[in-house]
Amino acid sequence: MKVYNTLSRRVEKFVPIDQKEVKLYCCGPTVYDFAHIGNLRTFIFYDIVRRTLTGDGFKVKQVINLTDVDDKTIKNSRSGGMTLKEFTEKYTEYFFKDIDKVNILPADIYPKATENIDGMGTMILGLMERGYAYPADDGIYYSVSKFKNYGKLSGAKVGSGESRIKNDEYDKENVADFALWKKWTESDGEVYWNNGLPKGRPGWHIECSAMSLRYLGETIDIHSGAVDLIFPHHENEIAQSEAYNEKKFVKYWLHSEHLLVDGKKMAKSLHNFYTLRDLEERGFDPMSFRLMVIDANYRAKLDFTLDALKKYEKTLEDIDISLKAFEALPKTGSVDVRVAETLRSELPAFKEAMNEDFDTHSALTHFFKVMDLINEKAREEKINQRDYEAISDVVQNMNGFLGIIKDYAIPENLHEIAEERKALRVDKKWDLADKKRNVIKEAGFKIIDLLNSDYVIVKDRRYGR
Ligand SMILES: [Zn+2]
Repeated sequence: MKVYNTLSRRVEKFVPIDQKEVKLYCCGPTVYDFAHIGNLRTFIFYDIVRRTLTGDGFKVKQVINLTDVDDKTIKNSRSGGMTLKEFTEKYTEYFFKDIDKVNILPADIYPKATENIDGMGTMILGLMERGYAYPADDGIYYSVSKFKNYGKLSGAKVGSGESRIKNDEYDKENVADFALWKKWTESDGEVYWNNGLPKGRPGWHIECSAMSLRYLGETIDIHSGAVDLIFPHHENEIAQSEAYNEKKFVKYWLHSEHLLVDGKKMAKSLHNFYTLRDLEERGFDPMSFRLMVIDANYRAKLDFTLDALKKYEKTLEDIDISLKAFEALPKTGSVDVRVAETLRSELPAFKEAMNEDFDTHSALTHFFKVMDLINEKAREEKINQRDYEAISDVVQNMNGFLGIIKDYAIPENLHEIAEERKALRVDKKWDLADKKRNVIKEAGFKIIDLLNSDYVIVKDRRYGR
């Protein structure tokens, strides 16, 4: 496997530190609001990284942290009249629902910042002892000029001035000593800890250093996030972890690009801001968003439009119908040599693409070659049992990497109604048969009649109607 490493700015061969287990840390959501589709693009990328490693036979330990205390969570919980815990738990639940809707496999551990305050405190005290951190009036700060490699990830330059910044987020023009610990102020309300440090709360950056150390150890294989985390967040994580552990923190830094909407940066003020919920309310299947993300290169900006999403939903429906029709084919006839030939070339090419810095776009073209084969068999109205099994295995294997096919349940009674419709059609009772079709439609499904007088039931998609 080859990956683009932000640290070296090169595509490198992936060699795990320990063959037994790949350690993967992904910066997770700040649970202060619904995740927007830009966040979800990043989370889908994490899932692709993890699925590719697993598909390649690695055992993976994946950590995705939940930021449940920072400037934004405190501010929004207070304005919402809720405790920090009530407030963040609510959005944590929505986060888990969202990632399931786009078929993201669960990480091994989802540590919460608020459950790791002691680890952060130990680290901050250690950094002070080693001379990398110092107390100020309003908190404890990291002295960026003390860490000689500061800027190695992002290229940010440490100036000669001695400025400090208390905000969790800031830009590259503001390279400054950043807050590891923030002393309590009135605006923090009930949110504070006393753990050998002044009454207060952690800055944002220290949580990932502390949780990565606790759950994965001093040096890990992969750390990932969206490009906007390169500075200051990941730069600061390196400074904290490498100064504290005196070891290299991360071998490979992987970053996924931004998502634009109609060519512009997503912003509530521009009315181009979408959550998954917004797309669902417009009648879209969240899985069509996953397919859109996967069809793009993770290192390129992705321009989201509702029209493009319709196109992906149509593709998703085609895949769905093809696969269900394929399953329904009579398993008869002789072995077709073209099946083995196609699979023999497409599966390795697919895996090669996935291993070439997660080239999901190219991998999809190989997946669609297999879909073409499936559609050809549907036109022939039969398939040899062995060919059927071979194709099914390859589709399953490819889907293990991509996760674009997500099963859904069809209520049992719809199958009965569909059978009744079939019988009515045999008797040429068309009106009655159509009534049965409508019952199925009202339940959110539809019948697709096949060539061989058989049929399949699929989700009735709305394409944003
Ligand atoms: Zn982080």
